[in-house]
Amino acid sequence: MAANRTFSIIKPDATRRNLTGAVTKMLEEAGLRVVASKRLLLSTAQAEDFYAVHAERPFYRDLVGFMTSGPVVVQVLEGDDAVRRNRDVMGATNPADAGAGTIRKELAESIEANTVHGSDSDENAATEIAFFFQPDEIVG
Ligand code: GDP
Repeated sequence: MAANRTFSIIKPDATRRNLTGAVTKMLEEAGLRVVASKRLLLSTAQAEDFYAVHAERPFYRDLVGFMTSGPVVVQVLEGDDAVRRNRDVMGATNPADAGAGTIRKELAESIEANTVHGSDSDENAATEIAFFFQPDEIVG
């Protein structure tokens, strides 16, 4: 059975444009509940660590620079089949390829400044949640 929690980041392009509420509304309307949330400025080391899987990609330094360019909002989301549900409402990585009504289609600026991060598996969701939250910070 798919787990019912996933991890989300509202990225700096969204906080800069005051879209935290707009993004959260779309997540909630997709059937996800915010059970933990905090706004913070990632350090370079945190962003490097979080995106370590992309360290060899040509866009890695740009991505780390972007993710540290302003505040982010890290969230734990709960809902049936949470990882898939969140990926569906996020839309494709490149907003040009994202489906109508998805967060990235409606709000993203570019393939990099694409408004939201969402875990891509239950295993990564658990790792990413633990990266930012203590268990007692998650309250349904
Ligand atoms: P996601 O799971 O849809 O977020 O996509 P990935 O895990 O493949 O990439 C992680 C993040 O790196 C994306 O959300 C983008 O912010 C950024 N990214 C991905 N592909 C590119 C690219 O080709 N160019 C740039 N500049 N950034 C990218």
